[in-house]
Amino acid sequence: MDLKSGYPFWSVKNGLMYAFPRLEADLRCDVAVIGGGITGALIADELARHGHDVAVFEQRDIGWGSTSASTALLQYEIDTHLLDLVLRYGEDDAVRAYRACAEAIPMLRAVAADLRDVAFAPRESLYYASRRWHRGTLQDECRLRDRHGFEVEWLDRAALRERYAIDAYGAILSALAAVVDPYRMASRLFHRLARGGTPVHDRTRIETIEAGPRRVRLTTAGGQTVTAGHAIVAAGYASQHWLDQDVASNRSSYAMITDPIDDQRLGMLRDTLVWESARPYLYLRTTSDDRLLAGGEDDAVDVPARRDARVERKAAKLVDKVEKLFPRLGIEPAFSWAGTFAETRDGLPFFGPHPQHGPRLHFAMAYGGNGITYSMIGAGLLRALIERRKHPLAALFSFGRLER
Ligand SMILES: Cc1cc2nc3c(=O)[nH]c(=O)nc-3n(C[C@H](O)[C@H](O)[C@H](O)COP(=O)(O)OP(=O)(O)OC[C@H]3O[C@@H](n4cnc5c(N)ncnc54)[C@H](O)[C@@H]3O)c2cc1C
Repeated sequence: MDLKSGYPFWSVKNGLMYAFPRLEADLRCDVAVIGGGITGALIADELARHGHDVAVFEQRDIGWGSTSASTALLQYEIDTHLLDLVLRYGEDDAVRAYRACAEAIPMLRAVAADLRDVAFAPRESLYYASRRWHRGTLQDECRLRDRHGFEVEWLDRAALRERYAIDAYGAILSALAAVVDPYRMASRLFHRLARGGTPVHDRTRIETIEAGPRRVRLTTAGGQTVTAGHAIVAAGYASQHWLDQDVASNRSSYAMITDPIDDQRLGMLRDTLVWESARPYLYLRTTSDDRLLAGGEDDAVDVPARRDARVERKAAKLVDKVEKLFPRLGIEPAFSWAGTFAETRDGLPFFGPHPQHGPRLHFAMAYGGNGITYSMIGAGLLRALIERRKHPLAALFSFGRLER
């Protein structure tokens, strides 16, 4: 599956960071991870650091799936409001999900600190009301988050204009957020794993999966067999290929990045992620070299050629929207691209086994606008399942919630 168009900024900036060998012989391991994106990287790292014998298989080069297309805003606030999650799953589960996302950000910071140069940086996050009639909902959302201990502040129209030069109907300002270079983080994690003795094989496509009661057997396109105690499908949006049940829908998102902008002109954008209550939403961040990265204009196009044909038009729309929000910024896109992402109906991810395959084949579907935050949660959750320990989100993030 072609997951991105053109060349996303991260792959242009970093190039092919490391080469890993193809799998050339049969292999045995405790846990086989299928997919060499940020999800596979965080999961393999978590398992290997805790003594599991892991092996990783990626069909192309490491990190060239949607990880390289990602704009990598790291937020605890997911696409579904806490208010809506409470209505669906009750206050306990909804708050537990939001808290886990909040805890994932310092966990990602710790992983980044260990790896050093992966451009992780803390940010604030500003979520503004795009329409007058969104204001009440956002104020209720802000109160609810505040009541549950999230560090938030409500900004009315005047405060928003004065502090952020944004003309909108109010906003939730969250203290907790961050950004990262996701391609670099995934590449560095796999490189460290390989140096530590974990087999990491790229250009190794898993063709078939047979999950039995005692082990999982994988075969590669090259004809090798991998026998593992457990396998984890961290194949991004291709993971759905292994399930008969329809659990998510694929969408395309579009992004553009400018040349570096003078930091005086960037102003508050240097330290603040910006996104909005309209759907699909516009989202903005800056990079460590002071470029402005904007994404949005999501649509339901799932055919790479049609998606690619739209990139320039979508990038022009993103520029219009940014200029409307910040009329004095004057931006020119340096690169633009598109990527596929998947969305679940409730905005939550799926981690764990599916009844179709039994308990030894796990899925890591970190779907939604906060995929990277979810991947960090999923790493701990899947380790708990493999070690037969309880995890507070195992039920909510399982396929079982589709029956609720
Ligand atoms: C434009 C865009 C903007 C985004 N913005 C954000 C954001 O701001 N914040 C955020 O948190 N998330 C964001 N996301 C989502 C985020 O990028 C994803 O959640 C994340 O990259 C998914 O990582 P992954 O490892 O699960 O998938 P991928 O990076 O796609 O990796 C899966 C890998 O599996 C491999 N694979 C598939 N099938 C096989 C097979 N049979 N055998 C071997 N290998 C296989 C693929 O080649 C691929 O490399 C965005 C996504 C897009 C497209």
